[in-house]
Amino acid sequence: MKINMSYGSGGIQTSNLIHDIFLKNFDNKVLNKLEDSAVLQVKEKIAYTTDSFVVTPLFFNGGDIGKLAVCGTVNDLTMMGAIPRYLTAGFIIEEGTELDTIDRIAHSMALAAKEAKVKIVAGDTKVIEGNSGVYINTSGIGEIAQNGVSISNCHKGDVILLSGNLGEHHAAIMSNRMGIQNSINSDCAPLISILDNLIKQQIKVRFMRDVTRGGLATVLNEIVSGSSCGVKIDETSIPVSNEVKGFCDILGLDPLYMANEGKMIAVVPQNQAEKALAAIRNSKYGKNAAIIGRITEGNNVTMITALKGNRTIDILYGEGLPRIC
Ligand code: MG
Repeated sequence: MKINMSYGSGGIQTSNLIHDIFLKNFDNKVLNKLEDSAVLQVKEKIAYTTDSFVVTPLFFNGGDIGKLAVCGTVNDLTMMGAIPRYLTAGFIIEEGTELDTIDRIAHSMALAAKEAKVKIVAGDTKVIEGNSGVYINTSGIGEIAQNGVSISNCHKGDVILLSGNLGEHHAAIMSNRMGIQNSINSDCAPLISILDNLIKQQIKVRFMRDVTRGGLATVLNEIVSGSSCGVKIDETSIPVSNEVKGFCDILGLDPLYMANEGKMIAVVPQNQAEKALAAIRNSKYGKNAAIIGRITEGNNVTMITALKGNRTIDILYGEGLPRIC
């Protein structure tokens, strides 16, 4: 069965879509009431964010648009020191989409939400003319567990940690689009266990950010503009899997500019760097974590290359890979 315009009419077919797919998969007390808004109990200080997902193809090695829509918003909350609690999900569905496709996406969202311990408590569906496209917006609320995480806290001498291998989401999406067979999976994942472990180990995290489109190079340049400091990294310390390295060699890609969906950086005081590294490595998605550099004086990002040269790392210019997330 395919979605047609009547599924967006607000009538019986909209109701069927909501009950047979969204309530079936997202099932929770708040959502099931189907009232105009979700009424939520939260602690005093919250983080609140939103993100839209337009990735193509909808299903790719290691994930799909649904998993991405949950993990992306969960990770943005987590990066502010917040424990994600509630999400909303808005779907814009083009005519011609199979109902089964929506069901698979919703099921994947439900699994990701379960892992991230969040509830999808409100939603919306619109149907538009088109050709089987699906777009999802998620917003999320998290309760602040670690206060004061901010880019402006980065100080000269602080150490920068990266939670794992770069480039996997980007390489997986490109492989799918180009019909290349390989074993590269998107790294799409919720990063809350890393925050949990950093808090448990009482690490004073100055700043965290998930490394998404624009890649590590872009995030490091954001530190420069947000903190009035410089950044120095060491190329040989940056983790990249052999598969992604090979993929980059063939296609002339630079892992520093490739998109990720389950990687983050953390900036911590120098005297806590080793403890923070151990905390991240002991987390579900952090086993390949590494110390990749430090905050310096200056106003740019430089990298000591494998051949001991100095390279300035600019922010990503141009379009990168369109519809990567
Ligand atoms: Mg982010």
